[in-house]
Amino acid sequence: MRTLRLNEFIMPLIGCHVSIASGVENAPVHGGELGCDAIQIFTANQMQWRGNPISDESRSKYIERLKANEIKQVVTHDSYLINLGGPDPRKLTLSRKAFIEEMERSELLQIPYIIFHPGSHMGKGDDYALKTIAESLDYAIESRANCKSILLLENTAGQGSNVGYKFEQLRSIIDQCSYPDRLGVCFDTCHGYAAGYDLVTEDAYNKTFKEFNDVVGLDRLYVFHLNDSKKPLGLKIDRHACLGEGFIGWELFYRLINDDRFEELSMILETPGGDENFSKEIEALKKSIKE
Ligand SMILES: [Zn+2]
Ligand SMILES: [Zn+2]
Repeated sequence: MRTLRLNEFIMPLIGCHVSIASGVENAPVHGGELGCDAIQIFTANQMQWRGNPISDESRSKYIERLKANEIKQVVTHDSYLINLGGPDPRKLTLSRKAFIEEMERSELLQIPYIIFHPGSHMGKGDDYALKTIAESLDYAIESRANCKSILLLENTAGQGSNVGYKFEQLRSIIDQCSYPDRLGVCFDTCHGYAAGYDLVTEDAYNKTFKEFNDVVGLDRLYVFHLNDSKKPLGLKIDRHACLGEGFIGWELFYRLINDDRFEELSMILETPGGDENFSKEIEALKKSIKE
């Protein structure tokens, strides 16, 4: 049974990744056009080390337009260049600096959740990366004591030397960090499936989330990335498919958006196919919510 809140059913906030190419202040408008309740943005160019500063004017327009377009939550995804777990001291310093700037921009834009891929060991082994990531997070949190955003480790597909593909690895980073209260998890369905966590049948779904709860805790879960998978279970290859067009299938997404345990979370699409596909999928998901 869903709980009533101000004559409104509590339901997940559904949305997608939106571009900030024409300025961060345009993201809420774009999200509104696509039917989003929540949006994910990059606060800077995801392929560059340094972001452009955000002007006061952009910032106030952005905040105004969130309200006007009824965007109830914003999450950010950090730059793809950042690796908080690698052995190269120069790259690690650059990564930590870029991550701290990400926190500064999120603080400026009042973004509550920063999603990031934990990191890669680059040949040094999983344990090395897990420890280095925890140290990087300590350093970043201590450097930006004012930043209130929760840092969300995204589970990975386990491609290359990426860590974070096993729930135990997410747990290990949380345990080694001195500020575990500042950490949470974003669960990407494609990545989970690619890493070998089956999500197709009801039994598989229950088993995977029981395991997640036992190892990490469902209370750590703040955001879902909703993606189907172009590759079969456990291949550790990260290729997003449109919902219902991959190996996972539509049933999972129907189950997720109707699961009471997740009714207050943001569910963000990162599927291929551009805006046309996003608005189609957002509409289909919203229609599938049982009242
Ligand atoms: Zn993702
Ligand atoms: Zn991915």
